[in-house]
This record gives sequence, structure tokens and C-alpha cells, in this order.
Amino acid sequence: MTRKFMEKLLVVASHNEGKVREIRDLLTPFELELNSARELFLPEPDETGETFRANAELKALAAAKASGHPALADDSGLCVDALNGQPGIYSARWAGPQKDFDFAMEKIRLGLIEEGTLNTRAHFICGLALAWPDGHVEYFEGRVDGDLTWPPRGTKGFGYDPMFVLDGYEETFGEMDPEKKHAMSHRADAFLQLVDACFKG
Ligand code: IMP
Repeated sequence: MTRKFMEKLLVVASHNEGKVREIRDLLTPFELELNSARELFLPEPDETGETFRANAELKALAAAKASGHPALADDSGLCVDALNGQPGIYSARWAGPQKDFDFAMEKIRLGLIEEGTLNTRAHFICGLALAWPDGHVEYFEGRVDGDLTWPPRGTKGFGYDPMFVLDGYEETFGEMDPEKKHAMSHRADAFLQLVDACFKG
């Protein structure tokens, strides 16, 4: 049975302040006290998992056990069909230590040329894990599907946004207003599932 979140304090197991802010906004209605892993000086575990689920769970569990409070972690990325789902869990790492996403997007384009394919299908995944200090974990996964376009367009997003066009739209995620993107992104999808299962009723 799904475990409900009944506590007052939630640790957001991320050292990325942008993610912490987004999660804070999404959970505002539930009047929780939120602490980030950085505020609590928690160590950042290596993402050694081979799936979004494994990485989200290991980050959430490490923070829950170290802090003694429930902790929420996410792991996300872009999966390209014709590249067997790459870069997937390695999406951040494909951009290198400089976090150069022009380079990472070019790598995808070259990969598709190398495959000699016209298949531009891709999806974003967001895995979200809520863990308790006793080791219990709830996991949710959000997904959005679309096509890759070239050259990249738009400066409003981050990461691979400028080359991703959501099904039913013509603008890229990079051209879309952030509120519009946030309302229908893979992250929103995962959060809605989490809130419905663990924060309501
Ligand atoms: P994480 O911090 O390990 O979850 O890394 C996620 C990586 O996936 C980011 O650095 C981006 O490269 C990519 N990514 C995840 N979500 C998005 C998105 O909404 N737009 C663009 N890129 C994304």
C-alpha cells in the first residue's frame, strides 16, 4: 500500500537550487517545512544506478538516512529512440564538466547521422523518489514524448530544451514560456502522481 506523507519536514535531496525552488513551488499548498540537502550539509551520493529509478531512489534514501527525515529526489534525462535511449541517465554527463549543452545536442545530431536514420522520436523522463529513514520508498515516473529538431531554437529553457518539440506543438521547449512548460513537463507529470498518491487524503 502507498505510504502517505504525514510528517511536517521534508528534505529535498538535491544540491541544485533551481530544482529545490521548483519543488518548493509545487509543494507550497501543503505547508511543509522544506530543507535542501545543501542546507543540511548532506553528502551528495554518486549516481551509480543504471536506471532513473535506481538513481532517484539512492539519492532519496541517502538523504533520508543521513537526516532522519523523509527525503525527495529526482533523476531526469532525455532518451532518444534511434540512439537506444541515450543519453538517458547520462544526460547531464554528456554535456561534460563545462555543462556545455550545445556540445551535447551536437553529439545527438551526429549520433543520428551516424545511424543514418530519419527517426527523430525522443522523450524526457523524470523519476521521483520519496524515501523514509526506515528504508521505505515510493517511486513515480513522468514522461513527455516529442521530436528532435535541428538547429536548436530558444533560450528560455535549459539542457536539451532547444532541440525538443513536444507532440502537438511547433515551438521547442526552449521557446516556450517556462510556466507553460512546467505545467506539462515530465517533472509536472511525476509530481502530480506523487501529490495524488502521498500528499492527499
Ligand atoms: P539530473 O540532475 O541527473 O536529473 O540531470 C538531468 C539532466 O537531464 C539535465 O542536466 C538535462 O541535461 C536533462 N534534462 C532533464 N530535464 C530536462 C528538461 O526539462 N529540459 C531539458 N533538459 C532536461
